[in-house]
Amino acid sequence: MALIIPGKTTCVVCGRVIVASGDAVSFPAFLKPGHRLSRFSDAVGHIGCIQSSADGQEAQRLHRRYLEIWESRPQNVSFEQAEAWGREAFKELDS
Ligand SMILES: [Zn+2]
Repeated sequence: MALIIPGKTTCVVCGRVIVASGDAVSFPAFLKPGHRLSRFSDAVGHIGCIQSSADGQEAQRLHRRYLEIWESRPQNVSFEQAEAWGREAFKELDS
């Protein structure tokens, strides 16, 4: 998750400083560089800004899907098997 430093971290949507961490949403690095919405990956935004922006809403939907995929990961497999699974499973988030 992107760190929120109140008074310093800026909102990915409006660019203004986030005053209180309770007013913000933090995204992990869940989209690849080059993705249309990659600016939301490892980023922070005001809750209101994220919810009132079409791209912010789409980023939240993709983040929920990312978490669903992650929760369905295979258990008790080798590192190599887990990596191979991850490459396939997260492909839908590439575009
Ligand atoms: Zn904002």
